[in-house]
Amino acid sequence: MQQIIKEIYIHHDSRRGILKTLEWFLSEVNELKAAIQNRDIPNIKEEAADTLAWLLSLLNLLNINLEEAFLEKYNNKCPRCGAKPCKCIYREGPT
Ligand SMILES: [Zn+2]
Repeated sequence: MQQIIKEIYIHHDSRRGILKTLEWFLSEVNELKAAIQNRDIPNIKEEAADTLAWLLSLLNLLNINLEEAFLEKYNNKCPRCGAKPCKCIYREGPT
């Protein structure tokens, strides 16, 4: 997926730069949030794809391979407790 996005958009992404591409990504996250709040499944699919595409554009500009970064952290187990499924204490929110 990251290679596909690079082949399609790297010329635009390079011109736009990291900070403006970050703004696009954050905008897409908010559009995904609105689609989920509206329980609009076709729109959720579209916005999820857009969100991932913009994340991949951002990572292309930063020369970070998402698959490598993901597997480095989530290598088939929870990074906190090391178990699968996770055995950490349940947390309702991010704080
Ligand atoms: Zn865990």
